[in-house]
Amino acid sequence: MMDQAQIKLTVLYSFIFLIFFWSLSFGVYAWMNTFFGDQAVSRFEIRPKSLFFETSDSSKEPFSDVVMDELRTVLLMADTTLLFFIPVISWILTGKTLQPVKTAHNKEQQFFADASHDLKTPLTILKGEIELGLKKRQTVNQYINLLKSSKEEIDRLVDLTESLMFFSKDQSEGQNILFSEVDLTDLVIERIGSFKPLAKTKKIKLSFHPALISVVVFGNASLLRRMLTNLLDNAFKYTSPNGQITVKLSADSNLSKIMILDTGIGISKQDQERIFDRFFVADSSRSKSGHGLGLSIVKKIVDIHHGKITVESETGRGSAFTITIPKFMPNTEKNLS
Ligand code: ADP
Repeated sequence: MMDQAQIKLTVLYSFIFLIFFWSLSFGVYAWMNTFFGDQAVSRFEIRPKSLFFETSDSSKEPFSDVVMDELRTVLLMADTTLLFFIPVISWILTGKTLQPVKTAHNKEQQFFADASHDLKTPLTILKGEIELGLKKRQTVNQYINLLKSSKEEIDRLVDLTESLMFFSKDQSEGQNILFSEVDLTDLVIERIGSFKPLAKTKKIKLSFHPALISVVVFGNASLLRRMLTNLLDNAFKYTSPNGQITVKLSADSNLSKIMILDTGIGISKQDQERIFDRFFVADSSRSKSGHGLGLSIVKKIVDIHHGKITVESETGRGSAFTITIPKFMPNTEKNLS
């Protein structure tokens, strides 16, 4: 599809450039003919020797004819050369112009392929389970198990759909996100509260180290909540029972810093470079439920807040995600220190 577009654009550009240069040549020739040709012959007696061809008796030819012959030859040669060069130059130019579009197109194709694959897997499992339930009569317990497993797949579908909606919303309404003063301490306390039951079930120690000063940023509360949820969700997903998850908040006059540390499986050095890519799932975590969208959403939210996210991790020992968000937005006078 992109190659076809490049060919069409090359033909169009070549046509436009050739028409332009040919018209220019014609104009130059016509102008020289009108304003220079006849006057030159009457005013000057000098007859330059032709650079390109030998005339049998050039001394008898009027000066204007020699000049016009010369000019015609030069213009014809230039126009013929352009006939070969312009398509090549147009091809190179369109290639360069289309490169960002090609990259975006390939990314989009990859995104749709990954999204369809992730949507299809739970649907296939769901279909198989329903077919199994309908095939032969099951006991009540078997039906309950089937329903439980079907619900898990539906939860995965809902989670994936929400993540996909986030990306589509972000693309269409990115400029309309509402910002206000958000107290990060309150937000973290609220999130920790909602993860406490899970910490109890998984026997994981969950602790919070608040900052010594109030940590207020200029941001979008709902996005920041989602960011914390995704990071805590991952920390719980990849930390074994008896492990530890800690959230630390700190701030100085310009930046607020959130750290989420866990004692989980950790992330290898090579995976650390890709974990923020959409649909990336490390081989070590394939058994866990996840679509590889959580951290790319977190990264997008951090970007929206003009912040930075970094990860330090060691396999088998745990991970530490650090987010820094400026207290004031660029281009605003509002300082919230
Ligand atoms: P997923 O939904 O699969 O967790 P994410 O985008 O949230 O997708 O994470 C991408 C990958 O990064 C995960 O598949 C996992 O391998 C790795 N990862 C993220 N957070 C952690 C963590 N706290 N500990 C270990 N690995 C992690």
